[in-house]
Amino acid sequence: MSTDPTVYNHTGSGPARGRIRVLQLYPRDMNIYGDWGNLLTLARRGQWHGYDVELHSYNPGDEMPQEVDLVLGGGGQDSGQERIKDDLVQIGPRLRQWAADGVPMLVICGLYQLFGHRFVTGERSEIPGIGLLDAETVAGSGRLIGNIVLDSPEFGRVVGYENHSGLTTLGPGAEPLGTVRSGAGNNGKDGAEGARFKHVIGTYLHGPILPKNPAVADWLLQRAVELRSGAWDPLPIDDADARRASNVAASRPR
Ligand code: GLN
Repeated sequence: MSTDPTVYNHTGSGPARGRIRVLQLYPRDMNIYGDWGNLLTLARRGQWHGYDVELHSYNPGDEMPQEVDLVLGGGGQDSGQERIKDDLVQIGPRLRQWAADGVPMLVICGLYQLFGHRFVTGERSEIPGIGLLDAETVAGSGRLIGNIVLDSPEFGRVVGYENHSGLTTLGPGAEPLGTVRSGAGNNGKDGAEGARFKHVIGTYLHGPILPKNPAVADWLLQRAVELRSGAWDPLPIDDADARRASNVAASRPR
């Protein structure tokens, strides 16, 4: 079963500059530590930039839309990952094809892990991933929890909140999202955080990440618009509140 998409109409006068179709993966099982705020940020900023934003929610067994412009996925506990794992493997080929075609994607923590090759849980059971990102994850003995600050070559400072047991290692086919300035990141050892492939970003940053890091949100929207051969011509947005939130989170101890 699939529900009808929710449409967030553009703000401002005149016709919309276009329509951005966002697919949110597994909001029922994979959506914690504020991840829903990523969707709201994309919808809101898309509206402010003059676009209608169409949200498709996808849960296990739903029908996948034929075409989308942006894919979003959140984190979840190991139990949530267990619930969606079979379905994810089934839709994996479609997601890999979209990624190869340049569809922008943002996946957080639990789905970041399953966009890699596998996640080996604390009980040593293996949850297969879809291998869209060249990364694999093995549960560590403790949890890595707290605010985290990165330096990203593309986005500058990126601030978020992490809470994971999984330790992720990247293969040669993935670039990190950034270097950890404070916090643990992928594994607490090599200084890398997240993974990049084409227009796909996997990261441990909850919080949610996008309201505090509007450059990442606008990058995803830009990729989505350009994918359908539209020119990206953003409207000015006052990001003072986003900057304040990011500064407060960055200054707080773990
Ligand atoms: N279950 C995974 C872990 O703890 C993912 C957690 C999350 O998505 N926050 O590593």
